[in-house]
Parts: sequence; structure tokens; C-alpha cells
Amino acid sequence: MKTTIWGCRGSLATPGAGTVRYGGNTSCVHVRTASGRTVVLDAGTGARSLGRALVADGVEQLDLFLTHLHLDHVEGLGFFGPLFDPAATVTIHGPRPDEQSLERWIATYLSPPFFPVPFERIPARIEFIEVWHDRYDVDGLAITAAPVSHPGRTVGYRLEESGRSLAFVPDNEPGLDPEAALELATGADVLFHDAQYTEEEYATRVGWGHASLPDFARLVRTAGPRRVVMFHHDPAHSDEQLEQMERDARGLCERDDVQLGREGLEIELA
Ligand SMILES: [Zn+2]
Ligand SMILES: [Zn+2]
Repeated sequence: MKTTIWGCRGSLATPGAGTVRYGGNTSCVHVRTASGRTVVLDAGTGARSLGRALVADGVEQLDLFLTHLHLDHVEGLGFFGPLFDPAATVTIHGPRPDEQSLERWIATYLSPPFFPVPFERIPARIEFIEVWHDRYDVDGLAITAAPVSHPGRTVGYRLEESGRSLAFVPDNEPGLDPEAALELATGADVLFHDAQYTEEEYATRVGWGHASLPDFARLVRTAGPRRVVMFHHDPAHSDEQLEQMERDARGLCERDDVQLGREGLEIELA
């Protein structure tokens, strides 16, 4: 498995001179499996550039795993090239809603007045798989979905192939539920996890669905992943502030290999 980050900002896309090193695009990660399958994790604004690259590569079948429907995780969908390729099949996996269906919510977002093209006129073949607390298999790739601590229906994912595992938990508030995401993260070869707030910031943001650095570190120490990537950077944090948070996280986690997610970061799990 090879993973590439196309967006790791949280909440709102944040372009500008202060965010060039880690990037301003919201949540989107590309995974190319050992078997050659294309997997996309979340469809934040990073999905626009990733979609262009996938179309250029001739990719016509892919699985898109959405953690939830907050806009920072879906607002790239309408600009994701494969959806506009009539030869493409896109399977969208996402949390089963309390009411309606995943398809209905996506169709509502990708239709007027929120989007110019009615959903039924999007050219690609689109299939939906609703998940909650599930384990299943996609062409040799073992998927675990599990609910996490975040407002609304939200899951994290663990992908396993040939003995290698990736855990993707971009939004999670372990301060309210220290057990959330542990099943997904424990022993993973790489963990992408919410590390949005400093301890001071979190004091006024309890219940917003995100991790403070001390809570992030507690989860990392308990789960013991082989690599850790800090994800869902706050729009208010500049590159310099993020680098200070990385130093703080390394101290709290008691390991020097904790690293900030940044656009273009590639991690090969072989
Ligand atoms: Zn988010
Ligand atoms: Zn969210």
C-alpha cells in the first residue's frame, strides 16, 4: 500500500502564504493498494487535484471512503474528475445515516441549489455502501469501519492488506471518549489522526469533535501505531504554529517520529 496526502487541513480550506508548507486543502488521502486498486479517503478540497491525476492515469474504478458528511470532507466531490467520466465506476462508502440514505444525502448536496449539476446527471456510475461498525472485504483489502467520537454520524477506517494496516481517523475527540478509535488504531502501521487543538484551545472547544494534543498523545501511547501522522490542522494555525505543535506532540507522545501531515507526503507500507 502506498498512501499520498492531497489535503490534511480541517474544517475549512485555508490557502495563503502562511500555510504553504503543510497545505490548505481539506481532508483527502489517496491509497494505491498492492493489488493496484485505487482507494480515496475523504473528498475534501484535495480531491480536485487528486481527481485530475487519477483521470490522467486512466483510473476508471475506485473506492471512496467518506468518514462523514461535514463539508470539509465532501466539498471536493463535485470537482472530482472521475465522477465526470462516463466510463468510471465510483463506489462511495460512508456512514449509514439516522434517516434517509447515504445516497440521498450526497445527492442532496450535489444538486441545485448547492451545486449546479443535478446528481442524476453526473456521468459516472456511482454505487453506495453504507457502513457503521462493520468489517468487510474489497478485492483482498480488509476494511474495518467503526464509529468515532464526533458530532453526527462519523466513522474511522482501518485498511489492511498483506499484513500491512493503515488507520484513518481525521475527526475524533478522545477527550470525551478515550476508547473511540482505539480498535482502529491499535498496532496500525500508520495512523492518521486528528490533532487539531493545543491544550489551551481545547479548553474552550470541548464537544466540537476534535483532539487536543494531550488527548491525541494518550491515544497514540495506548494504541502504539508504528507511524503517526497529525491530521486535520486547524485553519487558524500557520506553518510555524503547526511545527511548534509537532514538537509538543513528540514530547507528549515520548517519540520523535510523530509527524505533521502535509500535502504531498507519501508513505509506503511494504
Ligand atoms: Zn473535519
Ligand atoms: Zn467533522
